[in-house]
Amino acid sequence: MTHASSRTFATVVTKIAGATTALRQIVHQIDGPLTQELARMPGQFGLGQLPVTRIPDATTTMVCGYCATGCSLDIHLRDGRAVNLSPTRDYPVNLGTACPKGWESLSVLAAPDRATTPLLRMPGGERQPIGWDQALRVFCDRIRAIQRDYGPESVAFLSTGQLVTEEMALLGALAKFGMGMVHGDGNTRQCMATAATAYKQSFGFDAPPYTYQDLEESDVIVLVGSNMCIAHPIMWERICRNRNQPRIVVIDPRATETASAASLHLSIRPKSDLALFYGIANLLISRGWYDQDFVRHNTSQFEAFAGFVQQFPLDRVAEETGLSREMIEKFTTIIHNGARVSFWWTMGVNQSHQGVRTAQSLINLALLTGNIGRPGTGANSITGQCNAMGSRLFSNTTNLLGGRDFTCAADRQTVAERLRIDPAVIPTINSWPYHRILEGIHSGNIRALWVICTNPAHSWIDQYDARQLLQKLDFLVVQDIYHSTETAVLADLLLPAAAWGEKEGTFINSERRIGVVKRVAQAPGQALADFSIFRLIAEYWGCGPMFAEWKDPATVFHILKELSRTTPCDFSGIEGYPSIERAGGVQWPCQTSPSTLPNQRRLFGDGRFYHTDQRARFIFDATVPPPELPDEQYPFVALTGRGSVSQWHTQTRTNKSPVLRKMHPARPYVELHPDDARRLNIHPHDIVTVRSRRGAAEVTAFITPTVGRGQVFLPMHYETTNRLTLAHFDPHSHQPSYKYSCVNIQRANQAGHGSRKHD
Ligand code: SF4
Repeated sequence: MTHASSRTFATVVTKIAGATTALRQIVHQIDGPLTQELARMPGQFGLGQLPVTRIPDATTTMVCGYCATGCSLDIHLRDGRAVNLSPTRDYPVNLGTACPKGWESLSVLAAPDRATTPLLRMPGGERQPIGWDQALRVFCDRIRAIQRDYGPESVAFLSTGQLVTEEMALLGALAKFGMGMVHGDGNTRQCMATAATAYKQSFGFDAPPYTYQDLEESDVIVLVGSNMCIAHPIMWERICRNRNQPRIVVIDPRATETASAASLHLSIRPKSDLALFYGIANLLISRGWYDQDFVRHNTSQFEAFAGFVQQFPLDRVAEETGLSREMIEKFTTIIHNGARVSFWWTMGVNQSHQGVRTAQSLINLALLTGNIGRPGTGANSITGQCNAMGSRLFSNTTNLLGGRDFTCAADRQTVAERLRIDPAVIPTINSWPYHRILEGIHSGNIRALWVICTNPAHSWIDQYDARQLLQKLDFLVVQDIYHSTETAVLADLLLPAAAWGEKEGTFINSERRIGVVKRVAQAPGQALADFSIFRLIAEYWGCGPMFAEWKDPATVFHILKELSRTTPCDFSGIEGYPSIERAGGVQWPCQTSPSTLPNQRRLFGDGRFYHTDQRARFIFDATVPPPELPDEQYPFVALTGRGSVSQWHTQTRTNKSPVLRKMHPARPYVELHPDDARRLNIHPHDIVTVRSRRGAAEVTAFITPTVGRGQVFLPMHYETTNRLTLAHFDPHSHQPSYKYSCVNIQRANQAGHGSRKHD
């Protein structure tokens, strides 16, 4: 250890006074010196000369921390600090391109509202900065007291698909095996639970089968509920590189940017897609346009499915979807004539009251036509957050580590053996999903909540309800990189966390590709990597020895490899982070060295699936209408979705970039059809009140024929949108159905007062 670095170590040690020496070393190794300390003490300990990263000057690469596309970025360093970036040219995901969010990734780290010190709410209500030692003692004392009074199940956590896999695994293991919690879920419930459930039921494991190369190899690309041009622009770039002149069919109620570029746009009635896909299956089967050989040898439950879809003749489907018979016929013929047809879906399907069955209706079409396991094919869910896939496998929330099942004794035994822990500490029931946890607050069963890197006070459906519930808690802890999020300001205790770029680990992208994230910037003030915070909590809680081997993210990666062994996501062949980088990311499964494998791999080429009979299942159900339908009082269907390529979710990061802010409207807005606007005497840029049975929002009117008559569209990024949404959920995945609620709309000065619930 150099003189300078030993002094740095001493500085860090003073910030975590209660931790063991070994742990202090770990925190130092992971987090390095503290930036505010540098500012206050220039030269005092020689800290100003220290690089923040172990990577020498020049350029290093790492995966973007926004969406699940998983682009690689070249990070350019000076004096060991990131000063700029550019997209990596030879990475198999993005091939030298990045969207504006990726380009602006570094700028949002320096925001003035970064959380730089733990904050504790005082009896008078104000928040006061405290040191880590006090913060960790308060955290443990309050949670222990609540568990003592109300039982271990009275404390829950909400995690995120933005953490690196190593951190979310440590969090899940710490909370459940170390601290005795039973319930914990993640914000991936809001975006990917439907796809995960659909795959598990249909394939036997949560396994998106594709590789991005498929976007370039299809001759028919079906995009359902996906505005790929702005939501996953780099994937859209891959379609633009397709040399097969593919037919692109977009199924979306709105004429989105993606629909405008399509060969065929099916502007269906909102939430009628399940009937459409059953009708298509019926047509394909009745005409003999299906792959009988594949169906016979590789699937189960076909006969029942074929009988079921007879309930969806062309007339019924046309009536329910609002599409013409000709349009439905044309779509069916395009699928039939395609040699390599790929079906892609995202939130328009997942966020639905019957999302799982809708996703499976697409899986059924791929199985029926034999469009799976071959280049350019697949039933392909497009993931949202950068590490939603890591969360699905390793967050230890509603699944046991490695895609296992808490209720299965053999699974618990396997995990206990591989982690060398007592199987008795592993809960024997699956966690409540997100909405049950919130209901638990309502019923008084959940008394404390630990929210890590997510913002439910903005993003949860029917927001007034969510905010009231959060305020009802005895103890709310928020661990975040900003102190200003709608949830962070409600916290009794705020723990300041390092951001993407300030810590290490891995993400898993939509196509199952594991990529590496590095520390190329210094976290501000006393903010620590989530990994370090979890390790410190383990130490203060008294369960540190259970995690003695979880030394740092690189070590945990090897633990995760062992946990993955013998599962479908087995990546035990990856030697470590350097081999991931050398390979350009590694898709699971990977049981041998990545250097021996091609870097574009898809699943099910052998026609064998993960059910014990190795067959994929046709799964189907009766269609049901949404629980709320337009009526005289609330005549419009409100659709929600991404507004622009420059906004990410609740904008906690993207609104910190002056560049990104210039690329989208600053105020919340609603899009409505010109005929509706005329009828309501609403003009462009009028301030209007959109009101639902839950609440109201004042927004700017954008008048555009891209939305249908009787429909309005509100971007998800603005805090006002979830005042309106109706809390209803898919019964299998428990994912919220954000994209369908009923509203009315008036010019603001006609709308009367009040925006509270039921007013
Ligand atoms: Fe990052 Fe996604 Fe943009 Fe790629 S498409 S640069 S992963 S936000």
